[in-house]
Amino acid sequence: MSDYILNKDYFIEVIEDLIILAEEKKDYFIELDSAIGDGDHGMNLSIGFREINKNLEGWKSEDINMIFKKSGTALLDKVGGAAGPLYGGFFMKFGLPAKGKEEVTFDEFIAMMESGVAIVEKRGKAVVGDSTMIDTMRPAVNALKTAYFEEGLAPKEAMKKASETGTAGSDSTIPIIAKKGRAMRLGERAIGHRDPGSASSAAILEVFYKRMP
Ligand code: ADP
Ligand code: MG
Repeated sequence: MSDYILNKDYFIEVIEDLIILAEEKKDYFIELDSAIGDGDHGMNLSIGFREINKNLEGWKSEDINMIFKKSGTALLDKVGGAAGPLYGGFFMKFGLPAKGKEEVTFDEFIAMMESGVAIVEKRGKAVVGDSTMIDTMRPAVNALKTAYFEEGLAPKEAMKKASETGTAGSDSTIPIIAKKGRAMRLGERAIGHRDPGSASSAAILEVFYKRMP
């Protein structure tokens, strides 16, 4: 296969960008969650990534798996609601295929993405069309695999497709009712609103894409 490598610096830069993203998009995520939830999604992510920011420097000597395991644990410990355990689980499992590694191949990176999304599906039991972060994550990871393994796109191009597919997945939550999470209670009143978790997931995937060498 290709000799494309993603090293630890890439993953650390991604986390640093996510720390910035959580602050920059805080009000936007709050606004989305205020419309169909309890308005805390932006605050939840901000609290979680501030905790990661406090500790990241001390984690930089760890391998890729441990950096994400500790980041996920921070989200799990500090963030309440649905997003804490879901994003916490995502980052904890995201690192697992990179256990003991200082760099990964693109195949391994795809395995990391799959591992992360799979735990969100397992914990939250949402499927595509339920109007959750899974409406972003699952189509994105499937697109990543198809683009790289079947269409033969270069790694960054494949991740670009994944990111765009995730954004389209988030868009797809606007005209539908929610079948999971708080917005479920709104029924038809959720129609016309973007799911906040789908928006944060799309923004996170875009960071993974943009940072790629
Ligand atoms: P809470 O809903 O507890 O207030 P947040 O506001 O931080 O937590 O996160 C809400 C987001 O979590 C939703 O927009 C949705 O994307 C996601 N979510 C909620 N329940 C589930 C679930 N069962 N599976 C996947 N994602 C979910
Ligand atoms: Mg909320």
